[in-house]
Amino acid sequence: MQSFSPNTSLTHSLPATGHVAYFSMEIAIHPSMPTYSGGLGVLAGDTLRSAADLELPLVAFTLAHHKGYFHQHLDSTGQQTEDVQPWNPEEFCTEEPEQIAVWVEGRTVTVRAWRYDLVGCTGHTIPIYLLDTDLEVNTGWDRGLTDHLYGGDTNYRLQQEIVLGMGGVRMAAALGIDVNVYHMNEGHAALLTLALLEGQMGGGPQGVVTESDVALVRKQCVFTTHTPVPAGHDRFSAEQAGRILGSERTAKLEELGAFKDGLLNMTLLALRFSRYANGVALQHGKVSREMFPEFAIDSITNGVHGPTWISAPVQQMLDEHIPAWRRDHLYLRNAIDIPANAVIEAHSHAKEELLAAVAARTGLVLNPRMLTLGFARRVATYKRANLLFTEPERLVEIAKAVGGLQILYAGKAHPQDEPGKALIREVVERAATLDSDTLQIVYLENYAWDLGALLTSGVDVWVNTPKRPYEASGTSGMKAAMNGVPSLSILDGWWIEGWIEGVTGWAIEDGANDAEEAASLYGKLEKAVVPLYLSGPEKWAGLMKTTMAINGTFFNTNRMVQQYARNAYYPGHPVTGARVAEEAFAD
Ligand SMILES: *Cc1c(COP(=O)(O)O)cnc(C)c1O
Repeated sequence: MQSFSPNTSLTHSLPATGHVAYFSMEIAIHPSMPTYSGGLGVLAGDTLRSAADLELPLVAFTLAHHKGYFHQHLDSTGQQTEDVQPWNPEEFCTEEPEQIAVWVEGRTVTVRAWRYDLVGCTGHTIPIYLLDTDLEVNTGWDRGLTDHLYGGDTNYRLQQEIVLGMGGVRMAAALGIDVNVYHMNEGHAALLTLALLEGQMGGGPQGVVTESDVALVRKQCVFTTHTPVPAGHDRFSAEQAGRILGSERTAKLEELGAFKDGLLNMTLLALRFSRYANGVALQHGKVSREMFPEFAIDSITNGVHGPTWISAPVQQMLDEHIPAWRRDHLYLRNAIDIPANAVIEAHSHAKEELLAAVAARTGLVLNPRMLTLGFARRVATYKRANLLFTEPERLVEIAKAVGGLQILYAGKAHPQDEPGKALIREVVERAATLDSDTLQIVYLENYAWDLGALLTSGVDVWVNTPKRPYEASGTSGMKAAMNGVPSLSILDGWWIEGWIEGVTGWAIEDGANDAEEAASLYGKLEKAVVPLYLSGPEKWAGLMKTTMAINGTFFNTNRMVQQYARNAYYPGHPVTGARVAEEAFAD
């Protein structure tokens, strides 16, 4: 039993010698680097930004994604087309001299790394290594392996996962990074366990795996699962695995229990080899335990990085009234005491910035005094972007009652998701039919970091209508909350934890079907949202203050990263904001 007294640690203890190596297929690193698609990448980026602010000893691995996640264009009917967004790593990163090799479908593929230095608020730097196969020594096909995020077929995906998981482990070693925790952010990185296992057994796929080999890998690995939607879990056929990974490796993975229903299951592989696993909200942990009953799966609720997502006017207001919020977000509790006028003014500025961006993008001039709802997310059918149109006449009545209603939509559908694309067309078509002086619905093109920040901070209410229980967490409503913007949402994901009726927003109640849930949505607009809006800005500001005080203090990645440190990376060891106690590395 190790003892710990508060003054042995932290500022004057040894800096940790070992590092957490964080692996993620996508990371939203910088607004001008199209290396992410949506929530998972934004969460990964926010995790690293908070880890940098908190001075955690952490390094990260991802792929370069040279061609970028796609740029979305919508025509007047809402038909989506996609363009590649090539970007140049040289403009943002430094090339490392080390190169490593991985074995892919019988070929040796050479991998290099670009280093991006993410600098936290105190100057602590977290290096992010973007792995890249675009090298002359590789074949044309292999040079493209790090081009497209979530592009191509499952063969392409499995090959990318070899580069990420196995390549990342070897690159960390080549760079001389001392790693004591490997964190798999989603199953995409699960093959890192295979690289660790092989490294331990002398380098190759041969040999008999013993229990102690497995135990040694497990001791180093933690895993976060991110979706209760079965299609979100990567699976590969035995034929594919045999061909791309090699038959000996595939046989080994089967022996180790990474197959389910005849398929190599990356979530299962990650779970088998992790000493700690978690879902991303309390409810999601529960759903994940039901999906994988043989594993202990904990919950660490997601968050967002405050300084990244709080609008400039609101940050200015916080700096003036609660300067300590920057070093410790718990002080946001004091948002309760900010004068209503300051909140009203800061939000009006954020709303003006949003409406100016809408005008610049579409030519439409919206009214800053009108109640404005926001709905933006990756377009997947379970998110039900069309739920608000279930009874269009009722929506029109609500708009009249509140003196005009504006609804801003945004979101990309995956290029191969035809039902998702049809949903966008439906919203655009409805917007055109319902358009009037009192109701304006706008679908904004190309939802990405910049638009996400403008929308979550500039609208008056953030709406979310997923079908239960498919929302693992959701983070856009947290961005809104940090700006004081209340949510009107289905009780799923994070909102089960964040919801206090009339204090942080409102719940859309569970119904037997879509129509019943739509009825609850209208009912809440009619009986709660509209009356409060009509009662004047001062009352509304009261709601914004409680939203910020109660949810801003919790749903941020500073709190989340500290929970990872305590529960996943260094269990049983005290951690404060900054540095991990020396004792954490004693064994
Ligand atoms: C925050 C964010 C997301 C994730 O939000 P959800 O609530 O999970 O939909 C996705 N895309 C962008 C561009 C974001 O900023």
